[in-house]
Amino acid sequence: MKEILYSSTRGDKGRIRASEAILRGLAPDGGLYVPDSIPVLEKTLREISSLTYQETAYEVMKLLLTDYTEDELKYCISHAYDSKFDTEEIAPLSEAGGAYYLELYHGATIAFKDMALSILPYLMTTAAKKNNVKNEIVILTATSGDTGKAALAGFADVPGTRIIVFYPKHGVSPIQEQQMVTQKGDNTCVIGIEGNFDDAQTGVKKIFTDPELKELLDSKGFQFSSANSINIGRLVPQIVYYVYSYAKLLKEGRIADGDSINVVVPTGNFGNILAAYYAKNMGVPIAKLICASNSNKVLFDFFQSGEYDRNRDFVLTSSPSMDILISSNLERLIYHIAGNSAEADAAYMEKLTKEGRYEITDEMRAKLTDFFGGFATEEETFATISDLFKETGYLIDTHTAVAASVYGKYVKETGDKTVTVIASTASPYKFTRSVMNALGHGDDNSDDFALADKLSEISGVAIPEAVESIRNAEIRHKTVVDKTEMEKAVKEFLKV
Ligand SMILES: *Cc1c(COP(=O)(O)O)cnc(C)c1O
Repeated sequence: MKEILYSSTRGDKGRIRASEAILRGLAPDGGLYVPDSIPVLEKTLREISSLTYQETAYEVMKLLLTDYTEDELKYCISHAYDSKFDTEEIAPLSEAGGAYYLELYHGATIAFKDMALSILPYLMTTAAKKNNVKNEIVILTATSGDTGKAALAGFADVPGTRIIVFYPKHGVSPIQEQQMVTQKGDNTCVIGIEGNFDDAQTGVKKIFTDPELKELLDSKGFQFSSANSINIGRLVPQIVYYVYSYAKLLKEGRIADGDSINVVVPTGNFGNILAAYYAKNMGVPIAKLICASNSNKVLFDFFQSGEYDRNRDFVLTSSPSMDILISSNLERLIYHIAGNSAEADAAYMEKLTKEGRYEITDEMRAKLTDFFGGFATEEETFATISDLFKETGYLIDTHTAVAASVYGKYVKETGDKTVTVIASTASPYKFTRSVMNALGHGDDNSDDFALADKLSEISGVAIPEAVESIRNAEIRHKTVVDKTEMEKAVKEFLKV
């Protein structure tokens, strides 16, 4: 098997092994780690179709995380994808309204972030052992709601780690906030900030790349890493379910060998859809990668015009995990379509930091023809939830509804009848109020838990344990700071 090494999108010359890239999270120059080549699947998709989710995960991850031994990887996989998921399939496919919904929300925190964050702590602690790291690893995470809880759940009480999560105090759903502030584990710290997600993400990146702070922490026995999708250890496990879903369609006879499928991904930070792009490059016959945005449609505009422009108002929507104007993982795609050029990428990213915008070349745009960008307004999102439920009885959350709505528009526009997989990224119970709103119960003033009871009555879908368990849980995290005070808050928690 070919060894895969990782380098920074911004030109760090040194190439490092997967375990080191996972430990570091972000490259010292602020870039993201990318593989030096993209390996092709060894088994055929037909062969993969008889494998379990865990076996598929091994087939995919061994090709990219080449410095992990077979035993190490299998240990990580079996501890991640176990009874924390409420279905043995881990990522079931449900057909509704002419598409296949790939349900990625059956893990501990009922959103797709569990797919990667249930394994990242194992990959990271294994990496620490492999690299003789003596420091305690401090996971620093900015969240638009879902990453934070999934990372907390993954890292809580993991020996040798601490985790600090920043979330926009006024930018997450009540259930999301309750999930985070009730988190148990002495190594956990949750902080609300007065600011939006981009502020949180920018603040975290700044703390990460501060050399003085790094030195101070090192002298006290700490080092930072990231659980955000900038960490390659999150991206790799996300490739698995695209391979798995294709193999599943094959196994069930929904497609024939070699048939193409389309995938639709409700997108924020561009991590999930980038994983689909890698899956395609590894040999999964994916025709179109349909990138669905909400009203923060910076990516839609980018695919239309080739210009990325974050100079616009940040809109709070009913799909908060996609309320993002700086899609971090797009940087990896920019690097690839620039011909794996760190020089070009670094120049674009500098422009983004300084001017808030950049425009790619026509040559680069020509490499984006597999992507289709679309967006859905709030009205369209709500109508999609309601229509799908009325017509089929299948209930989706607001994020998934953005994708379903964009898919509907795509089919209308193109007439493309290719079998399509829609990434279903959250349980409707994570965004109960918005879903109830969509179903015509927007005037109900009950709290979110009472509302969940009503949604369960209407839909016949049981309330997930992840919601039940936080209903009356003790609130353990109450700190709120200004966006300029994030570093101070980190130092306080670590007592440095
Ligand atoms: C994080 C998230 C997204 C966006 O995924 P990206 O990888 O950031 O593009 C979409 N939906 C839900 C529910 C999420 O939690």
